[in-house]
Amino acid sequence: GELPPPGRVRELLIEAHSRYGSVSDGNVADYIPALAAASPDLFGLAVAGVRGRTYVVGDHAVEFSIQSVSKPFVFALVCDVLGADEARKRIGVNNTGLPFNSVMAIELNDGSAMNPLVNAGAIATTSLVPGDTADEKWQFVLNGLSKFAGRPLSMAADVYASEAANNKRNQGIARLLESYGRLYFDPLEATDVYTKQCSIDVTVTDLAVMGATLADGGVNPVTGERVVRADTCKRVLAVLATAGLYERSGEWMYDIGLPGKSGVSGGIITIAPGKGGVATYSPPLDEAGNSVRGQLASKFLSDLLGLNLFASAPVV
Ligand code: GLN
Repeated sequence: GELPPPGRVRELLIEAHSRYGSVSDGNVADYIPALAAASPDLFGLAVAGVRGRTYVVGDHAVEFSIQSVSKPFVFALVCDVLGADEARKRIGVNNTGLPFNSVMAIELNDGSAMNPLVNAGAIATTSLVPGDTADEKWQFVLNGLSKFAGRPLSMAADVYASEAANNKRNQGIARLLESYGRLYFDPLEATDVYTKQCSIDVTVTDLAVMGATLADGGVNPVTGERVVRADTCKRVLAVLATAGLYERSGEWMYDIGLPGKSGVSGGIITIAPGKGGVATYSPPLDEAGNSVRGQLASKFLSDLLGLNLFASAPVV
């Protein structure tokens, strides 16, 4: 299967944008002060196919910090180096059923970070990034995510400074993991690299290409460069399906039927294996920290582009 013809994809993107552009539910995240400055009106959508075509509508060129959408890509880089079994052993691959920054999830599970898509597992993942120093790890992450996007990415210094100054909870999570022998680098340094990784600036178009790289077995369909192995992508998509939308992952799968990942700046990626990536950007979030308009547009596009993995008949 493939994406529908280009004219149809374009038409559906425009339709999704006009349908949900006026939805005003949700609140822009403010627990990281710099994020609160984002306009709630921003709304951009993008699709990237595994043949290398990209489609965009709305605020597709606006840069925003990637936040938790970085997590699957850093996990992919680490999984590719460690191997899927070692990554599972050290980080975990099960849903927590609890919020993304839960400390309780660690305590309830014998010190396990649980999965790479919640903060605990993401900090553990970042602690496993190749490199002897924090700076080497950071360069590896920035370079790896740039390959996924197909262009050199950089960090939003203001967002980084803002979160770095308000980071006690993530530092606490890192220390707790360390106490259980589940962190693999200095806790403050690992948290700092994780915070930088969350502050990488992207556009919704970048996110669609990054998603399409996972959909394409690890080859960026725009640049043609192999970023990670196909086996790695299969594993990353499995964890995304289980835990990409935190404690709402079941509802997401029920509605959308595809692996996805959200972040508190308002981005969501959805991956249709073998077909492409869908990305949405709209800052207002629901109580779980998932973009309200993004979820609506993702569902619409999953249905009308015929992407739901569990649908037995093509959409007509
Ligand atoms: N940097 C954010 C944090 O660690 C990312 C959270 C998210 O996007 N869910 O709190």
